Amino acid sequence: MGMRPSSGAYRLIMRLWCQECGRPSGPEAKGWHLRRVDVPDEDPEPQLAAYCSSCATREFGSVREDDG
Ligand SMILES: [Zn+2]
Repeated sequence: MGMRPSSGAYRLIMRLWCQECGRPSGPEAKGWHLRRVDVPDEDPEPQLAAYCSSCATREFGSVREDDG
């Protein structure tokens, strides 16, 4: 009844955009971080935010895990 994606093979391509700088991920999204951003009482479904490697390092300190 509607538009089909395309005939033949259907490939799922996952593309991420950085929440911080808005940059798109590469094909492998190497070094990218996914973080849950949903609010349990408000959001019925889990939501993920993506961060590129440089923003993830800045935001979460992916290299060092010690806090503080
Ligand atoms: Zn970024």
